[in-house]
Amino acid sequence: LFNLTPEQIRLQGLAREVADGFVSARAAETDRSEAYPWDNVRELTKAGLIGYTIPKEYGGAGGSFFDAVLIIEEMARVCGVTGRIAVEANMGAISAVMRYGTEAQKKMAAGIVLAGDKPAICITEPEAGSAATEMTTSAVKRGDVYVLNGKKHWITGAGVSKLHLVFARVFDEAGREQGIGGFLVHRDDEKALEARGFRIGKREPTMGLRGIPESEVIMENHEVPAAMALQPPGGWHRGFAELMNAYNSQRVGAGTVALGIAQGAFEHALAYAKQREQFGRPIAEFQGLQWMLADMSVQLSAARLALYNAAASADPFPDPLLAAQAKVLASEMAIKVTTDALQVFGARGYSRNLPLERMTRDARMFTIGGGTAQVLRTQIASRLLGWKLPQARDGYQRQAAKLAA
Ligand code: FAD
Repeated sequence: LFNLTPEQIRLQGLAREVADGFVSARAAETDRSEAYPWDNVRELTKAGLIGYTIPKEYGGAGGSFFDAVLIIEEMARVCGVTGRIAVEANMGAISAVMRYGTEAQKKMAAGIVLAGDKPAICITEPEAGSAATEMTTSAVKRGDVYVLNGKKHWITGAGVSKLHLVFARVFDEAGREQGIGGFLVHRDDEKALEARGFRIGKREPTMGLRGIPESEVIMENHEVPAAMALQPPGGWHRGFAELMNAYNSQRVGAGTVALGIAQGAFEHALAYAKQREQFGRPIAEFQGLQWMLADMSVQLSAARLALYNAAASADPFPDPLLAAQAKVLASEMAIKVTTDALQVFGARGYSRNLPLERMTRDARMFTIGGGTAQVLRTQIASRLLGWKLPQARDGYQRQAAKLAA
């Protein structure tokens, strides 16, 4: 179904070389120290794998989301954190800027990312998680600036990222609400930005993926030049829908990290099952384990095909239905496959001396971040039914009453 081009085979090989030759050896320490893996970032940047999807005229390789998926899977196979860096340096915020940005915004964003930045996308707030459109962060127009106020949390990379895409409710000078828009903030000089009301708050102690900070971003009367407002063609009132359309690439990327982690765990389990002996023979001779390994491979294949299919559908962003289906499938698969891989190792799998327990913790995230499995199922159902499915109280009834009137 998916025949890789010679260029894609070369890219996959290069990514694997960097992953196995450099990233793999640092994965356990990244988890233990909870420090951002700058060494890996430098190595990926050197290899051209950061900003690979940036068009050639802005200095990138002009790669597709499908190409990015090949890079991400290889990184995540050995280190989930580096897989996530490869996502955000090729998809999400950077792809939104490259699609909707002005010339100046594109040049700025491309320069920052190609120098080794993983941009941060700032949507979620303490009271607006799945209900993202209930965000209260505001951007009020005042002359040639927008004044931002609000608090975001669980922002991946907050504290290490330079480029931020901040979602906020937009108000015009007369205080009228216009919709939800994106604003670009370049955190080049941390102290200067803090003095101007943009600061990083507390970091969450997370279960897995510990090498990237998940932190608050706090804005207090922070002024963003109007030229840094990212306005999709549909205008502010369509702003959220169109920016979230760009987010479908990130969703495919997140699913691919889950896939890569699970693939890595599976490879460990397969090798160990042949080597470990009990009852005088390799444990792989027991049918109970053979079927576990077979099931893992079935699930991995299905998730990989769904993700490839979603990535290949990009026009310019992945199809929302295919992206949601693929992320649900891959994120739930990864939880099961990493747990089963750990099981194949017995007690050794439960030890922090081997990567299985880290992979199991890392994989647990992907049914939550970037749209929960429940919310994505509702989006899938909405597409299948051809209905909008408002989730607010009385949503269905109100809609039915409107239709009846
Ligand atoms: P809630 O919305 O409070 O949901 C709680 C539970 O209720 C979930 O199980 C959910 O599925 C369920 N639920 C809620 N509404 C419904 C419904 N209508 N139907 C059925 N079930 C429902 N956000 C960013 O903006 N930028 C980031 O970089 C970022 N990175 C993240 C990284 C990590 C590691 C994690 C864990 C989260 C990250 N997030 C980020 C936040 C993430 O997008 C939110 O966690 C997610 O949207 C869910 O919001 P919530 O956690 O507030 O859960």
